[in-house]
Amino acid sequence: MGEYDYTRSGNPTRSVLQEHLARLMKATDCLCVSSGMSALDVITRLVKSGEEIITGIDLYGGTNRLLMYLQKQSQIVVHFVDTTDTLEVIEKTNEKTRLVLLETPTNPLMQITDIPSICKGVKQKSNCLVCVDNTMMSPYLQNPLELGADIVYHSGTKYLSGHHDLMAGVIGVKDEQLARDLYYVVNATGCALAPFESFLLLRGVKTLALRMEKQQSNCLEIAKYLEQKGFKVNYPGLLSHPQYHLHQTMARGPGAVLSFQTGDIAFSERITNQCKIFAISVSFGAINSLISMPGRMSHASIPQHVRQERGLAEDLIRLCIGIEDVQDLIDDLEQSIQQSLSRKE
Ligand SMILES: *Cc1c(COP(=O)(O)O)cnc(C)c1O
Repeated sequence: MGEYDYTRSGNPTRSVLQEHLARLMKATDCLCVSSGMSALDVITRLVKSGEEIITGIDLYGGTNRLLMYLQKQSQIVVHFVDTTDTLEVIEKTNEKTRLVLLETPTNPLMQITDIPSICKGVKQKSNCLVCVDNTMMSPYLQNPLELGADIVYHSGTKYLSGHHDLMAGVIGVKDEQLARDLYYVVNATGCALAPFESFLLLRGVKTLALRMEKQQSNCLEIAKYLEQKGFKVNYPGLLSHPQYHLHQTMARGPGAVLSFQTGDIAFSERITNQCKIFAISVSFGAINSLISMPGRMSHASIPQHVRQERGLAEDLIRLCIGIEDVQDLIDDLEQSIQQSLSRKE
């Protein structure tokens, strides 16, 4: 019956998408699945009970939830460490380590993990796989497979789609056996991306470069504006970011997400509520700008004392920048800050 005998196993639209994305990721093989979490589920099935995973502390909330679930259900040991500290990651690595799972920049603190140094260090101690969640950067800005990682994955729901109208997960590898192992899981569990979503994602990804360039240049201007206002801004495109240079060695740009602190929770809440162009929402990566308070929204499920330990301040505001006119966005923030200030007095 040939390659396309059954759509769960193979579909021509999905194949075109996968070939296209493989090239963008500098991968030899790509697998498209039903969501970002589904991609991580497929990848973590390479880890057997008794084996270990090392990952970061400032993780995407859903990633944290899946890893906690694995720890409970499958007797897989998960070590949560500060991955911005390369030596700590290497120190935790042993012969039982099967997977090192990294995010960079992290969300919402925008901390940077040194992918090449970690890959080099952990591989000397263990026959493990290094996997990078590259959702924040997209393949347009960063290619972890070229930095030494074995697996890269993206939530296609974000920048790759760009329009908040689909869910997808995208996995890239550069090893044939690994590609076969992962494909086996995708086919066996039935999580491959449906043909219509594959078509939509293919449309979305055609404008990835244009969207990223505009979103990123908007974001840099907004970051500078907020810094001038005296706020503490977390954005790897600012010279004030402690890992500005490290990020530049790995990526072609700082992306379009930033976070900042105002020093006052109620003030942050007012700013968030008063914005008119920025919609209050989680998620990021689409053409419209969003504002959120991670401590109250996307990261609210993390206990408060843990949030505190991880430096996730309660007054933190996250901005995900879209393609709107940058002056409109700055004017919106300015009116919101001015109104919130006048209420503060
Ligand atoms: C959104 C997101 C995910 C999960 O992707 P879904 O498509 O929502 O399942 C994973 N990692 C990061 C960094 C994300 O932002």
